[in-house]
Amino acid sequence: MPLSEEAFTALVDAGCLDCKSKKLTVETYVAQQLPLLGGEVYGSPSWGYKGEDLVRGTYRIACAGCTKELFTATACPRCEAPDGVERALEAENDFPLPTSCTGCGSELVTATAYVPAVVVYEGKRAAKARTQTAPEDPGFHAYRAECKQCRNVAERRVPCPLCTLA
Ligand SMILES: [Zn+2]
Ligand SMILES: [Zn+2]
Ligand SMILES: [Zn+2]
Repeated sequence: MPLSEEAFTALVDAGCLDCKSKKLTVETYVAQQLPLLGGEVYGSPSWGYKGEDLVRGTYRIACAGCTKELFTATACPRCEAPDGVERALEAENDFPLPTSCTGCGSELVTATAYVPAVVVYEGKRAAKARTQTAPEDPGFHAYRAECKQCRNVAERRVPCPLCTLA
């Protein structure tokens, strides 16, 4: 089951009950937007998620002090398929990043992908999300591409773009 926003807030509010640390490491699957030129990342990616998406994508919360695990989820945060998190983290991207727009031929395309990210919380205060996962790494799952020029969109919904289960 994905965490509810109430349960998430209660967890980060309470912190670690063992070592009393308020600093928690949240691991979550969230959307990142990547500017592309000819199919290659061109410029800095930006985050494209809201608070509720961060909560929904959360698959692990651990204490940053003593590393005690406070929450884990194994089902896919998007489709709830069993063991979806493990499959998502291990699988390679299978939505090829487009080299140009199919509508107008422009090479400037913005891709949206699910990536595993780490967000450090101190009480309710969250640091900026960070990810080590690039398009060539396992765990990176693009699912949408939008042309900067004509706004033509290619998007995948089925199978689940995150855990790739039909
Ligand atoms: Zn602790
Ligand atoms: Zn276009
Ligand atoms: Zn899924």
